[in-house]
Amino acid sequence: MDDSISFISTVANKNTGEELLKVDSVLMQFGGLKALNNVDLSIKRGTIHGLIGPNGSGKSTMMNVLTGIYVPIAGNVLYAGQSVVGRTSSDIALSGIARTFQNVQLFCEMTAIQNILVGLHHTFKSSMVEIALNLPRYKKEEAEAHARAMALLKFVGLDDLANEEARNLPYGKQRLLEIARALALDPELFLLDEPAAGLTAPDIKELLRIIRKIRDSGITFILIEHHMDVVMSVCDTVSVLDFGQKIAEGKPAEVQADEKVIHVYLGT
Ligand code: ADP
Ligand code: MG
Repeated sequence: MDDSISFISTVANKNTGEELLKVDSVLMQFGGLKALNNVDLSIKRGTIHGLIGPNGSGKSTMMNVLTGIYVPIAGNVLYAGQSVVGRTSSDIALSGIARTFQNVQLFCEMTAIQNILVGLHHTFKSSMVEIALNLPRYKKEEAEAHARAMALLKFVGLDDLANEEARNLPYGKQRLLEIARALALDPELFLLDEPAAGLTAPDIKELLRIIRKIRDSGITFILIEHHMDVVMSVCDTVSVLDFGQKIAEGKPAEVQADEKVIHVYLGT
């Protein structure tokens, strides 16, 4: 497999360690239920930040707040110093926050490469007229997008399956395709919602290899994950949610040894 990641505009070592995302006292309520109850997070550039907690603790809700699907009732989210609250999901995505969903969301009847090309069209500068008349600039952009889509597929090991319909790919490969499509947005911050759910052990190993490779290019991650071994092996910092509140935070080993966390996970 090709290990080059030159198609990702590398932001490596660009102020690694400075705060890229700040979540400030976010409150998100559904009816009477506080899905997020004054949660703070600080995500440092170049790190993998784990977000864990039992089912229903508010992890996916946090992703949805960060990507503009939900607007919090109170609090703020600052991305690279600017508030994302009230902005549309597509606007937030174009500003550099990409995500995958807890349930794979691909265009099932489109091929793998078409799924990636959908994510690349935002980079086109051609006008509608140039596109309609298939003028040179559009043709050139199409060719470049195709090459970049192939490079992204190769990066996740799916280049041989470029022309296969997404619905025909095994589940683990659908997950990787979703990651490749999100990378097409050229994100600085990448949110993964339970990427290892339903994967086999070899698929998880491959997923971890790919996440590390993306991290090494300088992209920052927030990783929601149920598999503790995944969280422990790849995260720099872990925050733990329970009933919408942050109950612990720190290095993986610290969090794993935290009594509140053990209580929440083991119920003892
Ligand atoms: P997690 O991802 O940690 O499993 P979620 O963020 O999906 O948890 O859910 C947190 C809580 O908020 C749950 O009690 C869930 O039922 C509730 N919830 C999430 N989204 C909605 C929604 N759109 N409408 C009503 N309740 C919701
Ligand atoms: Mg969830």
